[in-house]
Amino acid sequence: MKPLEDRIADHVKRIPRSGIRDFFELVQGRDDVISLGVGEPDFAAPWHIREAAIFSLEKGQTSYTSNLGLLSLRECIVDYVEGQFGVRYDAKSEVLVTVGVSEALDLVCRALLNPGDEVIYHEPCYVSYNPSIALAYGVAVGVQTKVEDEFVLRAEDVAAKITDKTRMILLNFPTNPTGAVEPLEELEKIAQLAIKHDLLVVSDEIYSELLYRGDSGMERGEHISIASLPGMKERTILLHGFSKAFAMTGFRLGYSCAPHVLTEAMMKIHQYSMLCAPIMSQNAAVEALKNGAGEVEKMRRAYARRRNLLLSRFEKMGVPCFSPGGAFYAFPDIRKFGLSSKEFALRLLEEENVAVVPGDAFGPAGEGCVRACYATAYDQLEIALDRIAEFVKRL
Ligand code: PLP
Repeated sequence: MKPLEDRIADHVKRIPRSGIRDFFELVQGRDDVISLGVGEPDFAAPWHIREAAIFSLEKGQTSYTSNLGLLSLRECIVDYVEGQFGVRYDAKSEVLVTVGVSEALDLVCRALLNPGDEVIYHEPCYVSYNPSIALAYGVAVGVQTKVEDEFVLRAEDVAAKITDKTRMILLNFPTNPTGAVEPLEELEKIAQLAIKHDLLVVSDEIYSELLYRGDSGMERGEHISIASLPGMKERTILLHGFSKAFAMTGFRLGYSCAPHVLTEAMMKIHQYSMLCAPIMSQNAAVEALKNGAGEVEKMRRAYARRRNLLLSRFEKMGVPCFSPGGAFYAFPDIRKFGLSSKEFALRLLEEENVAVVPGDAFGPAGEGCVRACYATAYDQLEIALDRIAEFVKRL
């Protein structure tokens, strides 16, 4: 019999394991670790949303739904997206409910890329982008963003990567892992590039409710979706979901909004691979969209307070950290300590029991920084920051 390793498809063999996963295997089994590692809200989903899931079960709603998702949910999504982003989609033909943004991203790549097609994306970025493109036989073309430039994606850097094989630009603002928000002028220039070169744009807007305006960040910033810019709705696939703002990661629910022809292509794969998203999660999501805004804002304000704590404490420690405009991540610059991001994170874990993620887990452009997620209780964050201060004092 051939060795089992030889049975694994070449394109799967080529994909590295997630750097986050490797790191968290080290965290497992250690006592007293404060984790600023996992990018997941520490809040449970608001009670009225959980209750809607419970009611769904109580009423015996345990069936499949339409492949596209419950029409009642798609109608709520259309209203919500119009309210948030100022773009209106057709609930019957332009919205697809998926198992998280993760599935939506996979569907986009599999439905819209031919082997060898290039996708431009910005690094450091969410760990799934590169593998999702590679698994669809696409070619991931990273554009580096820099800490000195507050991780702004420069249109001129995007333009420099465009070839005759480029098919899509993949954007994520606010960005995981940096918390960066794209300035409108630059977003407009990227839209112009997409139009000029006839490219599709995939816009992952999963953190779009979590925006912090000004120094205090207590006011919510305004989110502008590239889909809302002139000439862009017809070439944009907008991805959004419930995991982050609504603290519903375990419900596994997301959606895409895109022109009918693209939605139909994605739906073709979804209907054979997933069939539909779970009905109880869909019912819970209806409640989230109808009545969840107050809870989302409460959580956002809690994150804003924690963000301020982190920023002021890093400043006191002499650790440079740019002020993130969104999401729930800080990405401090640790280059002055002369350690790689992996060494820094490993020693911090071993010596002080605090877990942060090495920046290179998010692509080579993340080297020199670490990701600290502040979706962690305020008192725990305070202790973690005390420990980090002790650690950097010794370096
Ligand atoms: N997109 C980004 C930028 C993320 O950070 C994450 C999760 O961390 C996802 C997508 C996946 O989200 P979901 O839980 O909806 O699959």
